[in-house]
Amino acid sequence: MRLERVELFVVRLPLKRAYETSGSRETHQTHVLARVESGGAVGWGESVAPEQPWYSGETPKTVWYALDEVIIPLLLSTDLAGPSETDTRVGWIREHRMAKATIEMAIWDLAAKQQAVPLSKLLGGTRDRILCGVAIGIHPSVEALFETIDRELQSGYQRVKLKIKPGADGHVAEAVRNRYPDLAFMLDANSAYGLADVALFKRIDAYHPMMVEQPLGYDDIVDHATLQREIATPICLDESIHTADDARKAIEIGATRIINIKPGRVGGHTVAKRVHDVCAEHDIPVWCGGMLEFGIGRAHNVHLASLPNFSLPGDVSASERYFETEIIGEPFTVESDGTMKVPTGPGIGVTVLEDAIRKLALQTKEYRPR
Ligand code: MG
Repeated sequence: MRLERVELFVVRLPLKRAYETSGSRETHQTHVLARVESGGAVGWGESVAPEQPWYSGETPKTVWYALDEVIIPLLLSTDLAGPSETDTRVGWIREHRMAKATIEMAIWDLAAKQQAVPLSKLLGGTRDRILCGVAIGIHPSVEALFETIDRELQSGYQRVKLKIKPGADGHVAEAVRNRYPDLAFMLDANSAYGLADVALFKRIDAYHPMMVEQPLGYDDIVDHATLQREIATPICLDESIHTADDARKAIEIGATRIINIKPGRVGGHTVAKRVHDVCAEHDIPVWCGGMLEFGIGRAHNVHLASLPNFSLPGDVSASERYFETEIIGEPFTVESDGTMKVPTGPGIGVTVLEDAIRKLALQTKEYRPR
């Protein structure tokens, strides 16, 4: 496969509701979209870097830089045996995983379209529906949080994830458990705590969350292993897992019992599959995280989450929760049983609204082989 044309678009959309985590408060999402063309087929990818570098070091501007100056010129002059070779070719570039994922995932979509199969099939997916959960940002009061949880449960979600931060943690878990005795809920701290907070997490054990996600440093696995030895609640790692080796090491030292896989965080579908596989070998379940994706990124996540070891409900939720404006023709919806259908058309299986993207784009650039 040889790329004949690549285009980048920067699109900024307002969120319906501001989204607060321990490290950020977001009102808009700015994502770089990649369109790749080869042999008459077209593939699409979407970057997930937030506007500020609070999650990793990446932002839309660093994604643009890495794609524009390094990754696209390299790939336009490369023959690829298949989509999984993309990761090998860009492997010498340190970091910039969200940038790599943007075009790597577009190339997977392109390859699936060339073969006229759904992306899930090309990735090795076995599910025709995925299990959906929903991530809920930090609310100003528990009453406001209850309102949101009630609304999400009515929509059918199988589990809710609550963001926590110092000052909005133990009492939130306690209040939620008291009001919803059987609710499957989990907590996500986005690295807001340290080992000095062991007592807090011991207290949280009593409220039986399904897991606590990335409580300690974003680049740590050692302290997480120490914390896991002290508490009953399973730890799930997110920010600190970038490769299959990271996952193996974290599992081997007992730092994690569950892993959240985000293809953007690990550089695309190829590495996401490797992380999935190493977790399966160690009987560690995985689920698919979310980064407030537009429709293209959401579609990629749905296909990835059809792989067999995605056995826990993920953060892939209905499109309409987040944005008024759609960039795909068939927005994702959650069924009353809390599942979402995996599209069955070729590639990501949704209609990309190219005219809308071209109108919305704040910045565009076209690339062809020299
Ligand atoms: Mg997380």
